[in-house]
Amino acid sequence: MNKKYRKTVIAGNWKMNKTPSETKEFMNQLKAILPKGRWCDVALCVPAVCIPAAVRAMRETRVGIGAENCNANASGAYTGEIATNMLTDAGCKYVIIGHSERRAMGETDADVNAKVLAALEAGLVPIMCCGESLEQREADITEEWISMQIKLGLAGVPEDKVRKVVIAYEPIWAIGTGRTATPEQAEEVCNSIRAVVRKLYSSKNARAISILYGGSMNEKNAFELLAQPDIDGGLIGGASLVPEKFVQIIEAANQPTV
Ligand code: PEP
Repeated sequence: MNKKYRKTVIAGNWKMNKTPSETKEFMNQLKAILPKGRWCDVALCVPAVCIPAAVRAMRETRVGIGAENCNANASGAYTGEIATNMLTDAGCKYVIIGHSERRAMGETDADVNAKVLAALEAGLVPIMCCGESLEQREADITEEWISMQIKLGLAGVPEDKVRKVVIAYEPIWAIGTGRTATPEQAEEVCNSIRAVVRKLYSSKNARAISILYGGSMNEKNAFELLAQPDIDGGLIGGASLVPEKFVQIIEAANQPTV
């Protein structure tokens, strides 16, 4: 992390876990043990039906609530979909876009790009995910692949808005597998993502954009991962479902940096 130039963000991704009642219970437990004083930005991205309960419970806190997906269209005949203005109206601050589990359901880079643009337009913070498969890593094309995902995902994002995007590097082979990238592996890719942003935009924007690591981050490995200079936080699945574990990760993000 480098707190001097950019925000540290610890974001939870609940995926398809917890009901609205369980959300209320979780948020009350979390509120009771949240660290006091100044700390990093904290987001919890929850299933759509849990958003109202989460927003209500965390109203007086600095925890921002987010969605796990959105539709890029403003309104219309898209049964089952949720537009970005519905999310902001419901109290969301963040939205995860392009998670590998959604890409596996058919979401393309063009879809990701349209959603990023729609989220920015609505005033949401898009948490744009990228990541390589194990086959791609073994074929030594990780950097190339990620660079392409970043370029396509950010297409058309103007210079003055790019730093509002949070990028999450999530190697697919590390998500939900218990197999974490080593701090060096994660740093190498996050550093290369920053270089892509530098090339596409400017050194100033590259220095200001927050890049998270995700993939089996937990209360045990968070400190070491977050100590890397280009890892500005985490996108956390499993460990964000347990208040004590999530708080320990927030505490790891409070470590002093350069
Ligand atoms: C995720 O869902 O984005 C994720 C990183 O999951 P986990 O932490 O469980 O690997």
